[in-house]
Amino acid sequence: MARYTGAVCRLCRREGQKLFLKGDRCYSDKCSVGRRSYAPGQHGQGRKKTSEYGLQLRAKQKARRFYGIIENQFHHYFEMAERKVGVTGENLLRILESRLDNIVYRVGFASSRAEARQLVVHGHFEVNGSRVDIPSYLVKSGDIITLCEKSRSSEKMKAVMEANSGRPAPQWIDVNRDAFEAKIINLPERDMIDSPIEEQLIVEFYSK
Ligand code: SF4
Repeated sequence: MARYTGAVCRLCRREGQKLFLKGDRCYSDKCSVGRRSYAPGQHGQGRKKTSEYGLQLRAKQKARRFYGIIENQFHHYFEMAERKVGVTGENLLRILESRLDNIVYRVGFASSRAEARQLVVHGHFEVNGSRVDIPSYLVKSGDIITLCEKSRSSEKMKAVMEANSGRPAPQWIDVNRDAFEAKIINLPERDMIDSPIEEQLIVEFYSK
C-alpha cells in the first residue's frame, strides 16, 4: 500500500496546527508548528486560501493526514460512510477511529499512528485471539485487542508502552495495561472523538 514518505512536520505546518504525527517530538519544543508557524515552501509565508472550496479541501487533507490515509482509501471510507444510516460526517469519523492502527495509538500501545501502523504490520497485535497484521482492519464493539504473547517481553514494546502510559485512553475503550489488552466498549459518538477534523466540510467537498 502506497503511503506518504516525506517530511511529516511539513504536513502539520501546511494545515497550520499540530497533527501529532511524530510521537514524543510533538510534545516538545522541537515541534515545527511552534517554531515556524507558516506553511512550508517558497510561498508559505504569503499564500492564504480562503475560498469555500479551499476550506473544504484543507479539511479533507487534514483528516487524511491526521489518520495517515491515502486519497483512494479515504474516498472509499467516505462512500462507506454515505451508505450507513446516520450522519455521513460522523459515520466517516467513526470508521476512521475504528481502524486497528488508530486503536493501537489511541490506547498508548504506540507513540504515533505511523508507529502503530508499523507495529500492526509486524504482527504484534491480535484481535479476539487471532493475529491481525492489517492496519486498516476495522474493529467492532466488543472486540478485544491484545499485544501478542511473544511481543510482551520485547524491550522495544516495553519502552513504547512505558513512554505512552501517561496518555489517557478514550472513554469508549477499556484499557488494561497489565494484561496488554484493550476492549472496544462501543464505537464512539462524535463528542467522544478527540480530533481536529471538521467533518461537515469533508462531506461538502465530496458532495460537489
Ligand atoms: Fe506535527 Fe509532531 Fe512535527 Fe509538531 S513535531 S510539526 S506536531 S509531526
